Amino acid sequence: MGLMHRANNFLTRRLPVKLARCQLTRPVASITFDDFPKSAWTVGGPILARHNARATYYAAGRFCGIAEDGLDYYDAADLQALAAAGHEVGAHSFAHQMAPTLSSPALAADAERNAAVLAPLLDQRMSNYAYPYGEVSPRAKAAMGARFATARGIRPGVNAGKIDLAQLRAMPLEHRRWVPAEIDGAVARAAAEPGWVIFFTHDVSESPSPFGCTPAMLEYTLERLSSAGIDTIPVRQAMARAVFGEG
Ligand SMILES: [Zn+2]
Repeated sequence: MGLMHRANNFLTRRLPVKLARCQLTRPVASITFDDFPKSAWTVGGPILARHNARATYYAAGRFCGIAEDGLDYYDAADLQALAAAGHEVGAHSFAHQMAPTLSSPALAADAERNAAVLAPLLDQRMSNYAYPYGEVSPRAKAAMGARFATARGIRPGVNAGKIDLAQLRAMPLEHRRWVPAEIDGAVARAAAEPGWVIFFTHDVSESPSPFGCTPAMLEYTLERLSSAGIDTIPVRQAMARAVFGEG
């Protein structure tokens, strides 16, 4: 990890730009898929449906309709089908570059390009964002925090107490590092606070990428949440509950 990278992470942790006091009286969860590979919907969607859960799919326009590195990505029909099933489409930049590496005008232009490409395919506005690679800087947080209702990072933990809406915490659901006890711990913490626990992953497959999960991993997480009596709802609805006390 380079010095600039470490300095960015250090500063970003200490310069939250969009704080909200958590209003939850009962815990809530969100499952999120980044980029996103087609299997997040074709394999993940039926699993979510069995658990009465709805998710947020953060779409990067560059991936629409393509295959890359052995993964098939979503297409327009996938976006429409998942939105019709009550899931949320979130923004994940167009070009999927690390936000801190882009100039402010380039970062804004990229976000606008993503909205312009995907908006004609959607009835809903993309009001929530996830940082590509989870990479943030104080500048990127200020820009994305202002542009979107929330911006999700990859700092682990549960959103409770003072929530940083410009860098929501999220727990990995990744094949490369699968520790069920960490899932259990995050669910228990969300139940105790009460807080908002967010999980992030990519593809859902019996042979997933290192950043994806198996169907069993997704099932495990959803079962833990159900057992704890925690609703799994899209970021948009969870944010409304957490920030405005709605629902
Ligand atoms: Zn991504």
